[in-house]
Amino acid sequence: MIDSHVHLNRAEFAEDRAQVMSAARETGVEGFLNVGYDPTTSRESIALAETHADVWASVGVHPHDALLLADAEGQLTAEGCEVLDELAELAASPTVVAFGEIGLDFYRDLSPRPAQRAALIAQLRLADRLGLPVIFHVRDAWEETLALVDEVGVPRARGVLHAFSGSAADVEWARERGFLLGIGGPVTYKNSDLPSRVVAAGCDLLLLETDAPWLPPVPHRGRRNESSYLAHTRDKVAELLDLDPGEVAARTSASFHGLFGTGPGSGMP
Ligand SMILES: [Zn+2]
Repeated sequence: MIDSHVHLNRAEFAEDRAQVMSAARETGVEGFLNVGYDPTTSRESIALAETHADVWASVGVHPHDALLLADAEGQLTAEGCEVLDELAELAASPTVVAFGEIGLDFYRDLSPRPAQRAALIAQLRLADRLGLPVIFHVRDAWEETLALVDEVGVPRARGVLHAFSGSAADVEWARERGFLLGIGGPVTYKNSDLPSRVVAAGCDLLLLETDAPWLPPVPHRGRRNESSYLAHTRDKVAELLDLDPGEVAARTSASFHGLFGTGPGSGMP
């Protein structure tokens, strides 16, 4: 299986990153997509990918940091244009297979909504120009995000709705446009709507992810999440879809390689 969304660059892993990665490999994790969320973490993701054959990287600016690109009125700033140029340069690394995480977060609202919208639009256009699939981070803004993507234009290399928490209609939005759903620890939580979405989606619309160090699955809630816990999410998805866990692993890995162009013969590790 592949951990399609992880932040191994974080300080939470500074002490034991190598052990965390080898523990994950022992549970069957064959690859890690380390996701950037600002210029610094994008560079860190690339550095990790350059030094580990089973790590790929993404670059992008998270909605929480939208003010790096746009002002509170939703105008791109001169500094923001420089950041976009820098992201485009970083994306030229052969280790970079995706653009993100980008999106709208109206749950925490850590940056003004007009800035979030402007940052998303500019990065959607850049991802499309670079031909990279997009990793979306969306919280309490599903309707608005998906409408905006349709308005700006669906990126030609498609993408994934990371930490999916949308409606049944949003599942169909993804299916119709060739997007995948990132499923992580929350699928194991009590009172979650996610199991019914997984059943509606079916296995081939799904990617497995941890979002480590955040969102640990049951039975590890309250602790630092890590990629070795991905098996709990795989097993829950298998149970919901009445499939063998090995089949879920194989089919989600095939979907990952299809989306990000990382499979055997791609020239990627
Ligand atoms: Zn993330």
